[in-house]
Amino acid sequence: MIVVMKPDADAEQVERVCEVVREMGLRDHVIVGTDLTVVAVIGDDRKKDKGKLEQIDGVDRVVPILAPYKMAAREGRPSTTVVRISEQCIIGGRDVPVIAGPCSVEGEQQIIEVAQMIRDAGGHALRGGAFKPRTNPYAFQGHGEDGLKMLAAARAVTGLAIITEVLTPTDVELVTEYADCLQIGARNSQNYRLLEACGQQPRPVLLKRGLAMTIEELLQAAEYVLSAGNPNVILCERGVRTFEDHTRNTLSLSAVPEVHQKSHLPIIIDPSHGTGHARLVDDMSRAALACGADGLILEVHQDPVHAMTDGGQSITPTALATMLPVLRRIARAVGREIPTPAGIPA
Ligand code: PEP
Ligand code: MN
Repeated sequence: MIVVMKPDADAEQVERVCEVVREMGLRDHVIVGTDLTVVAVIGDDRKKDKGKLEQIDGVDRVVPILAPYKMAAREGRPSTTVVRISEQCIIGGRDVPVIAGPCSVEGEQQIIEVAQMIRDAGGHALRGGAFKPRTNPYAFQGHGEDGLKMLAAARAVTGLAIITEVLTPTDVELVTEYADCLQIGARNSQNYRLLEACGQQPRPVLLKRGLAMTIEELLQAAEYVLSAGNPNVILCERGVRTFEDHTRNTLSLSAVPEVHQKSHLPIIIDPSHGTGHARLVDDMSRAALACGADGLILEVHQDPVHAMTDGGQSITPTALATMLPVLRRIARAVGREIPTPAGIPA
């Protein structure tokens, strides 16, 4: 259950709630939102005494949460959680940032060049895999730590924050040294030890939906990160596997409004993995913004034909620049804004 504090409740009253929760043999977790502070009460339901908590000064109401994810649940959290990856890339508020970059970091010159093109096209952050989860063990596995260094070099040149995947709990510390946001990929989104390790480090986490994962399972995966101590989780719908084979995956856009109803966590859309075809990325990006997505993550490569991985679903920086004006109009129509970086025509 969660204890929703009154808007004018002070820190002492919040602390009193936490003390009483601990006296009950339960764990407390304070979440300070933009409008309200809530205290999540975690532990054995039989020990939870709603009446006692309602008596404490500063408490507005106590809401039982039936969902198996307590900290990710929407109840008592009217506004979506805002996750700040960088000044230009803030996800969950009015802004709808566009994260773009190649599937893999291929070399220093390649990543710096594409990062500059993405910045000039109007992108807000750079994605790129240094550790790649490949189906085939003989396929390119990424440049590892060297790839992280190349990403850091691209950030130094462009100022774009970097988002990159971490594959194992033992790599978390290393990736955290370089990345501004850690991506947990679709194949790893139910790797519970990895989720916990990402919950114990300070960077925001981009959690992708697994290939065969229900929304309820996705929110429970997010709960692992949240309950390990990291409140900055961004969810990502990147398509699920179905019988359909005209696309690589089936991009389940209804996940966006569904997640918004069930959880306060922001959710972004990856139409590149979601479709597998560069020709479908623009239209699905439009649809994603129309249904309320909090951001986009797109595979963008300066030379998709020669990309080492996922070239078929990668758009060019020119295509990105061409897409953005219509995406901006759609965002505005639904009360959002794709920020226009300085020097980019609106
Ligand atoms: C990626 O972002 O390149 C990637 C491997 O994504 P996913 O985990 O969604 O397949
Ligand atoms: Mn990819």
